[in-house]
Amino acid sequence: IINRPSNALKELLENSLDAGATSISISVKDGGMKLLQIQDNGHGIRTEDLPLVCERFTTSKLKVYEDLSTIQTYGFRGEALASISHVSHLSITTKQADSECAYKANYADGKLVPAKPGGSCEPEPCAGNNGTILVAEDLFYNIPSRKNALKNSRDEYNRIFEVASRYAIHNAGVAFSCRKIGAPKTDLNTLQGATAMTNIRQIFGAKIASSLVDIEHSDDHYAFQFKGLISSASHEMHKSVFLLFINHRLVDHTPIKRAIESLYTSVLPKASRPFVYLDLQIKPENVDVNVHPTKREVRFLNEDTIVSAIVDCIHKKLMSTSSSKSIALQSVPDIDGRTGLSRGISTLSSLSSTSTDPAPSPFLATPTSTPIKSLSKGSPLVARPSLTSSLSNTTSSFQKTPVNKAVRTDYKTMTLESFSFGASPSIRRNLVQSTIDGDFSVSPSKPAPRREPLRISPSHANRIANPNLAAMEECNNATSGPLGGLPARATDTAENIEPLFPSQIPSAAAACLSEYSGASGTVAETATPLANALDRQLSDEFPSLTAATAVPVPESTPAPTEKSYISAEKEPRIEVRLTSIINLRKELQRHAHAELTQILSEHTFVGFVDNRRALIQHQTRLYMIDYCKISYHLMYHRCLFDFMNYGRLVLQPPPSVYDLALVAATEMGSENPTKCAGEVSSRFSDSREMLEEYFHIKISDIGTIDTLPMVIRDYSPDYDKLPLFLFNATYSVNWDDEQQFFKSFANVLATLYALEPPLPSDPQSATDEYQLVVEHRIMPSLKGSSFWASNNLLTENALVQLADLPDLYRIFERC
Ligand code: ADP
Ligand code: MG
Repeated sequence: IINRPSNALKELLENSLDAGATSISISVKDGGMKLLQIQDNGHGIRTEDLPLVCERFTTSKLKVYEDLSTIQTYGFRGEALASISHVSHLSITTKQADSECAYKANYADGKLVPAKPGGSCEPEPCAGNNGTILVAEDLFYNIPSRKNALKNSRDEYNRIFEVASRYAIHNAGVAFSCRKIGAPKTDLNTLQGATAMTNIRQIFGAKIASSLVDIEHSDDHYAFQFKGLISSASHEMHKSVFLLFINHRLVDHTPIKRAIESLYTSVLPKASRPFVYLDLQIKPENVDVNVHPTKREVRFLNEDTIVSAIVDCIHKKLMSTSSSKSIALQSVPDIDGRTGLSRGISTLSSLSSTSTDPAPSPFLATPTSTPIKSLSKGSPLVARPSLTSSLSNTTSSFQKTPVNKAVRTDYKTMTLESFSFGASPSIRRNLVQSTIDGDFSVSPSKPAPRREPLRISPSHANRIANPNLAAMEECNNATSGPLGGLPARATDTAENIEPLFPSQIPSAAAACLSEYSGASGTVAETATPLANALDRQLSDEFPSLTAATAVPVPESTPAPTEKSYISAEKEPRIEVRLTSIINLRKELQRHAHAELTQILSEHTFVGFVDNRRALIQHQTRLYMIDYCKISYHLMYHRCLFDFMNYGRLVLQPPPSVYDLALVAATEMGSENPTKCAGEVSSRFSDSREMLEEYFHIKISDIGTIDTLPMVIRDYSPDYDKLPLFLFNATYSVNWDDEQQFFKSFANVLATLYALEPPLPSDPQSATDEYQLVVEHRIMPSLKGSSFWASNNLLTENALVQLADLPDLYRIFERC
């Protein structure tokens, strides 16, 4: 059981501590192999016991038989001294306080031996202080193989130092010193009465010490308690440090280490590693120290429960002290028994981002139970349970955020972009595309509300010899139209379910979502806090909607060569009282999918799959979304909710309605394009006042489009779609019925504003720009509570769950 000097040291230290020592000095020669000496000021050994102490199975630590099961001291098997005496030349000098002098005894193989050959075996009286000095010399002198295995004395000394310093921290108050014999100074020198914190500062440095926060927890039911000091986010650790004491014995416990390490990686922003000093006490009969020959590893009852209590406690502490905002999951029972997405309904706990611990207290000098402050983020989605009762109400803590449900969603979260798959973004893109393409298609049997946009082919675009289009062309370098061959009949757009791109082949992905198809519960039915949030929006107060806060920019500023729009002046928000609009908004609310809305509003962007699809994370789940489809719904939502309150996009130079209509008519195969173009331009000029007032579409006296609504802040649509927009607005919008008009016009507008991926023939820069817009304009617009995701998104397969962390844990925790 003794296989290196540091093992022996541990046993000897424990004996000294058992003897009530308040001062322990360790002296080492040659990594402990030549000499290992421990001097303590404990109660010493009775002279009459000296012949026995090194006998196997002799111990002074069992008074009655029952002690066997409950004994608290380190060792009671009487093995340590016996073992050491078998592998080294051992001598013990000891003096009890009431004894007149000290006695020195020498041992070999568990028995007293004479100091010199031929001398007496009896312990010799000598001078000495109260306490005991144990000297083990020539370790493994009789086991050459073992001795040869321990060649590196520096290494062995480091191990000795590690054991000594850890016991010094755990037994703060007892003075520890450790030195190499002959070295000018001691390597370890803790003071009597010091605190664990002081000793940690001395041993590990002030930086670590000042980042430590204390934890404490006890559980009567499972009969354990722990306290400790852990590093918080304020100090980035590069290497894990564990000081794990179970029932005051320095041990390894791999499950505890692993769980804590993965907690730190997932919770702290920089994937910092833990410094953890944990003093865990478990009812002794629940601990099995005999699983490992050197008692290094232990096992205990209710391991899972205890480990998760520890992780949980640390997690909470980190949350309350870290500067990152993290989200903890609380599962709530299914609201309406739905499967699939509804399983994910959960309340969001947003924990304090401020430090609640002003300074690390001297280690548990006064037992603290700093309540963890909760910060409601103002979002009505937040409904957090109390986390403060954990110290007293212990069993409840087990249900809270185990590590496999811990989620990190702060702004520093890495996106896929940070993992370079190679130097060239295009290589990266192709790689991803080739593996995932085609998995995410529209189910042909289900009508998609999306209208088919018209792309102007270059030939048509060039035919318009109108400099007004220069800016538009500049904005979109499309060289060919992907939909040129599509039967884009503007009149039956509602039924038009052609895939947008040939690459979209129907696949089994639709089946994955079939479980969602029944999930058509409306917001009203589910009556979640979300519904209330959405209700509030309905009341025509929309502080969260951003388009109204367009940056004021004078209309005269843009140079023709700059981007083709500018933001418009800030206007006071107009309250909309039109019943038709309010009805349409209510209709949106009725068709909103609470869960999908929550997923999108709280998502974290992970990265692009391709120019239609991206990965997002919500709580513990990873989803693939079709952001193009979602963008259509977003635009429709914004058209209705920012009605009369959009920002303005100023077209510079303004294109002519007639010319654009001519392009559209030709493209649509109209028999009389000029007549058609005339109809479009008169429709727009006849309605210009209404269009301007309601939609900020400004038609000039000379028939040009001067402004368009800025539906999403700092986002302009693909102007190649303008001709089709004008065409559809004229022919597929119901201009007679008010409510129908607003609905169909918002539809047509949404189609204009919906994202349009660049073409394969576009330069890489177009894709880069496009992705920037998606990531920084469109995706953020989904956040907050400003977008109600429609049920239709599910039937359109716009969102597929790819993975869930707890499931992954189930797979990987066995590895
Ligand atoms: P155990 O610690 O399991 O009892 P050990 O072999 O470690 O067995 O020690 C045997 C006995 O020697 C102890 O029970 C104790 O009575 C005595 N002993 C060992 N070291 C010391 C010490 N430093 N001070 C006082 N007594 C000691
Ligand atoms: Mg012992």
